Amino acid sequence: MKMKKNDKILIVIILTVAALVFFIHNLLGGKGADTVTVKVDGKITGTYSLIENQTIEINDGSNILKIEDGIADMIEADCPDKLCVKQKAVSKNGESIICLPNEVIVEVESNEDSEYDAVVN
Ligand SMILES: [Zn+2]
Repeated sequence: MKMKKNDKILIVIILTVAALVFFIHNLLGGKGADTVTVKVDGKITGTYSLIENQTIEINDGSNILKIEDGIADMIEADCPDKLCVKQKAVSKNGESIICLPNEVIVEVESNEDSEYDAVVN
């Protein structure tokens, strides 16, 4: 009898943990987890949430990145070609804006998708 009771408790605990993990995974995963990683000269200088509307000064203001409604767009740059400003805004995992003269890379990453990519690649 005692053994059976313990088994039931164990099952309840496992189910609770599973539900919790599922809930947290859903909370952190999906679209809400998308972030942009900013790299200057190959080094990560910051990661920013795409959910939050914000303007980011990269590399002491050489490039200005704007995040609005889940889309990141390079709105200003002091580079001569301005190719990064002309590049289309990014919002999907794996998309990036690159400023070659300033060695700035803005990359969209989602934790869940990058795991998937790792498996596929
Ligand atoms: Zn540029």
